[in-house]
Amino acid sequence: MTTNSQPAAMPPLNSGGTARLRLRYAARSDIGLVRQGNEDSGYAGGHMLVVADGMGGHAAGELASATAVATFAELDREPPGDQVLTALADAVDQAHDELSRVISASPDFAGMGTTVTALSWEGDRVALAHVGDSRAYLLRDGELSQLTKDHTFVQTLVDAGRITQEEAAVHEKRNLLIKALDGVHHVEPDLSMREVKAGDRFLLCSDGLSGVLTPAEIRDLLTSGDPTGSVTSLVERAIEAGAPDNVTCVVADLVADDSIETTDLAPATQSIAMPVVVGAAAELRNRDRLPGIDFPVDSQPDPDRPTPAPVAVSAPENDQPIQAEKPKRRRRKLGPLVVSLSIAALVMLSLVGFWGWAHNQYYVGNVNGQVGIYQGIKDGYGEHGFSKAIQTSQTSVSQLPQYSQDQVNDSISAANLEAARNIVATLEAQAAQCVAVPKTPGCPPPDQATGAVP
Ligand code: MN
Repeated sequence: MTTNSQPAAMPPLNSGGTARLRLRYAARSDIGLVRQGNEDSGYAGGHMLVVADGMGGHAAGELASATAVATFAELDREPPGDQVLTALADAVDQAHDELSRVISASPDFAGMGTTVTALSWEGDRVALAHVGDSRAYLLRDGELSQLTKDHTFVQTLVDAGRITQEEAAVHEKRNLLIKALDGVHHVEPDLSMREVKAGDRFLLCSDGLSGVLTPAEIRDLLTSGDPTGSVTSLVERAIEAGAPDNVTCVVADLVADDSIETTDLAPATQSIAMPVVVGAAAELRNRDRLPGIDFPVDSQPDPDRPTPAPVAVSAPENDQPIQAEKPKRRRRKLGPLVVSLSIAALVMLSLVGFWGWAHNQYYVGNVNGQVGIYQGIKDGYGEHGFSKAIQTSQTSVSQLPQYSQDQVNDSISAANLEAARNIVATLEAQAAQCVAVPKTPGCPPPDQATGAVP
């Protein structure tokens, strides 16, 4: 059986990017059977597919995933062309900055984070950006291949040859991420690009799907039906399997586009599909809590989304309907304004009492070679001039992976003391991992990794 429904009409794929292809897509997200809320978000549009799985931080995981999805969805409106990998990396940085802002405004949210797996399609290639343990798969000619590698502790064990992929799937620490977007740690996403062709089918999903279905089950459910049928049967099968976590999946087919021949149809009858937003990013109460974020205008509401009607009724008087009236985010053109606002903020701070403010600042840094927490702020020369060390960890900086050593030596700012302690705990876990898996890329040589452990 072939997945290509129109072999005779298929245009050449490598004719200078003029192949008449389009993405036909569907997305679905479900809270599952155990969780109290849906912290997953998903997006599918003409050139962009995204899944983000939020977590932690006083139930702000849904804000983290919604922020990530909204940031990547922006690339769907202005496809980046040749610069796609740069644009995807920039989107990761933007989502990080956005989360930092959310945490600064609401320190209770420190500790939240999200995965993000995003696929950008154009012409005969897709580009992927990936952080965390959500996944992208390709179904081609009946064969399923996983396009992403989980950023999990158990995956590092698999890579080191310590356990098998099957053992990893049931390992008690299988949910432990070694990378996530959290607005605190800068992360390098995995970036990749690959050629694609008509008939290819893509699946992006959260671990609520891949954690309960085997690859063979996923392949079987993906092999028949259109994208809408596939997302429905995938989610339903995860629910039958107990759905201990939120379940989100996006399915898209790369198909020959017949509608290009019929563009003289009236606009109302043209099949120009609207994007679909599902999960936390689709819920208006989450969008309301992220006033700085520009959410995509989507056509097909998540079935679980609360009815939008009350919003217009209950919104504050100066609050316009969110989707229609929200001003465009101007992040990229905001440089000079941000600088002048920062100067204004500094002037104000000097008026309200510099030290009072500084003493509420915390950061994680190098305390005489150990990982530690400083209270106060660094001065303009990168020294610890206006701060003092208030806590020192047993973990020395030299035990950390190199990228974490650099971060600690530069210092990592924290929204509050609890957040700083969480950062230290994360660093201690990294050092412990370097001991457990000595050949993990980036880890120091074993003598340094184990040297200072008490
Ligand atoms: Mn999950």
